[in-house]
Amino acid sequence: MMEPSESALREMPFLMSEDFAVLLGLKKSEYGLEYKSELERLSVFKSIYLPRNLLEPEEQQDVVWSRFCAIYLPATVDRFLNLPAVDSSDPNVLADHELHNVYCEMLVHVQHSPYFAKYLRSKEPAAAKAITLPRVVAQRLAERAPRWDRLMVRPPPGAPSDYYVGIATNACQLLSTLCTFFLKHPNQEEILPTETKVILKPFFQRWAARYSQDVLADICLRTLLWFEGGDTNAALRREYNSVRRSFKNWDVCGYPRCDSRSKLQVCSRCHTVRYCSSAHQALHWKDPFAPHKNHCFTSEY
Ligand SMILES: [Zn+2]
Ligand SMILES: [Zn+2]
Repeated sequence: MMEPSESALREMPFLMSEDFAVLLGLKKSEYGLEYKSELERLSVFKSIYLPRNLLEPEEQQDVVWSRFCAIYLPATVDRFLNLPAVDSSDPNVLADHELHNVYCEMLVHVQHSPYFAKYLRSKEPAAAKAITLPRVVAQRLAERAPRWDRLMVRPPPGAPSDYYVGIATNACQLLSTLCTFFLKHPNQEEILPTETKVILKPFFQRWAARYSQDVLADICLRTLLWFEGGDTNAALRREYNSVRRSFKNWDVCGYPRCDSRSKLQVCSRCHTVRYCSSAHQALHWKDPFAPHKNHCFTSEY
């Protein structure tokens, strides 16, 4: 598919959470819109829907991700774990599909949403599969790492030179976020088996060295730290805390102008944000820049 120009994208309407749900096949279109294949979904997501929304302010985009996650995150994870077959005869597409599909791209994109964090810590049945995510992502990456490692250096004919660096970066980023989130889980072998770590380690070391100017290197180094550290490593603990903080509004009062970390009370509707006082909750609800009322949704997890 041709990539549309920025001006062509600007002529399109801003896409809502329901549009993304239709694209992922999680909701029936009201306009009879149908996507014919998994490849078409992925291509439309990457070349049209995402770039279109990235043209708008982050706050406006975040409202879409909050609402999408509140309603459709469990179904997105289900699809990622039980992938629909891809109808292609291209061996590269078939080999990449398990870790390069529209559901994975969506998870990568919402991994820093407070709703993603809520999903990962939820004890509700709708989030029961959350705990399997790091293991599945790691296993799929371990199966593909030797191939991707080759293709990063020598991309297949017609593919952009950074194509495989890009999809590896996405997969590694998602794995890193998941690992960090589950760092304190008592059964680390269940989160990520040692045998999978042993396969991934040399690739992460190699990519960290080869792409030292790239975000991929940071992600690989961080994940290696996680592989080695466990709970006792001080550098890892700092890293863990910074990722936890990046799941906005949880360890600190959700009102942007307050740094209080004590006696936080959760928003009883969405459970994605906590406040030091009902005064700050009321101020945040109507905040002129990022009012919580635009992000506050109930979810079944
Ligand atoms: Zn406060
Ligand atoms: Zn709320």
